[in-house]
Amino acid sequence: MSDCIFCAIAAKDVHGRIVHETEHSLAFLDVNPLAPGHTLVVPKDHYARLDDLPEEISADLWRTVDELVPRVEDAVDADATNVGVNNGPAAGQEVEHVHVHIVPRFDGDGGSP
Ligand code: 5GP
Ligand code: ZN
Repeated sequence: MSDCIFCAIAAKDVHGRIVHETEHSLAFLDVNPLAPGHTLVVPKDHYARLDDLPEEISADLWRTVDELVPRVEDAVDADATNVGVNNGPAAGQEVEHVHVHIVPRFDGDGGSP
């Protein structure tokens, strides 16, 4: 999609602080992090919602999330992680390209994101 910022990052047309890449998925740091290490995992191709993802791409995306959660926790010495998707505008999705938030949490940091 030509005007999609995450497509542009996936195409390397726009700079993203990429932390991991697989055949179908890309992980990069959120530009406006809720916590140190806040990472987004996206399919490289444009899909707006979770239910638009072909099975193979969905499997790759969630496998990547599973692999990255402990690595991100280690990298920032977090105690726990929120993993979440805002799936649709009414749920708070601002970028219409599927993305999974990995938000590191720290003992005593208070509340949910
Ligand atoms: P949403 O509300 O759609 O679930 O979350 C969108 C996320 O994308 C936000 O956390 C926001 O900070 C992040 N974001 C928006 N534009 C950019 C960008 O250009 N680069 C990066 N790395 N993150 C972005
Ligand atoms: Zn896109």
